[in-house]
Amino acid sequence: MFVYTAQPARVVFGAGSLDRLAEEVERLGRSRVLVLAGRRHVERVEAVLGELAVGRFEGAAMHTPVKVTERALAVLREADADCVVAVGGGSTTGLAKALAVRTGADQVIVPTTYSGSEVTPVLGETENGIKKTRTSPDILPETVIYDVELTRSLPHDVTVTSAVNALAHAVEALYSPQANPVVDLLALDAVRRLSTGLRGLDVGNDARDDLLAGAWLAGTCLGSVGMALHHKLCHTLGGSFDLPHAPTHTVVLPHAMAYNAAAAPDAMRRIADALGVDDAPRGVFDLVATAGGPTSLRELGMAEADLDRATELAVGTPYPNPAELTRDGLRALLGRAWAGERP
Ligand code: NAD
Repeated sequence: MFVYTAQPARVVFGAGSLDRLAEEVERLGRSRVLVLAGRRHVERVEAVLGELAVGRFEGAAMHTPVKVTERALAVLREADADCVVAVGGGSTTGLAKALAVRTGADQVIVPTTYSGSEVTPVLGETENGIKKTRTSPDILPETVIYDVELTRSLPHDVTVTSAVNALAHAVEALYSPQANPVVDLLALDAVRRLSTGLRGLDVGNDARDDLLAGAWLAGTCLGSVGMALHHKLCHTLGGSFDLPHAPTHTVVLPHAMAYNAAAAPDAMRRIADALGVDDAPRGVFDLVATAGGPTSLRELGMAEADLDRATELAVGTPYPNPAELTRDGLRALLGRAWAGERP
């Protein structure tokens, strides 16, 4: 048996689609927009919106700190905005969600990374050093505009880690307890597009189209089914050791896959086929290494002395996972990820 609930997002995909922004806001029946964007994009976005833009906030931060949300909320209220337009990565999208869930404002998201947050009803917020996650239909953005032109300025290192962050959503969807035929199709196509895009980055051509489409499909998986060991580990490492989101995903993914490989052989075989390799965990490790991404927690600045505490935190709250979660097994996984060993 399975249950599948589609998330009702409107998606506009194509090079130059940012030009449709005003039309998409009006389509929602909204007329007063707060723009959330960094310096790189804010003026272009305001020019496209014209009179619809009534306010601007540029201070979005990683892991959606509630203090930042409160400052943005004051700007939104002062401007009497009824819609937020967010142009940026997962951090900017997180702020849009935090504002929408507090005010009922509609959201139009224009992602410039591959985090996938724009198609999930999930919001993770931090307050007093603790990251809490909640899920609600009110958090899901109404409209997403994917314009590949905005992703061309992404630096190579952010491109690689963000694409592997997306890959992780697709991988864990394939061995999720809620896995179903629709999400399987999305996940396998996401694995194909993301790996093709990562391999083609140096060549240029259509690599960024593949990466952006793959990110959308993978994000849809993340918004549809529950994630497992890999996402929980990264959540712990990010929240408690202040490690950067996408680089942490990039290092941990091959090791979390190796941990689950024997317990999820069918998923691993399908992932390996989609990647065009013999062994899925090693294939992901090699994909990252060849693209020049980080392969060890050590290089992300984690102290070896913190591995025991990370293990304790990771075994603290149980959750569904293909392989049984044991203290020794997780400590060994983290040790290998810290040292950057090929699985
Ligand atoms: P991010 O938004 O912080 O962006 C990473 C870096 O890339 C930043 O320095 C940003 O300024 C830069 N950048 C973004 N777009 C750029 C562009 N076009 N050109 C040049 N530089 C650009 O990081 P992220 O990895 O996209 O998102 C991470 C955040 O998203 C975390 O807080 C994470 O928890 C959250 N997230 C949430 C979900 C969800 O479903 N709720 C899913 C994935 C990630």
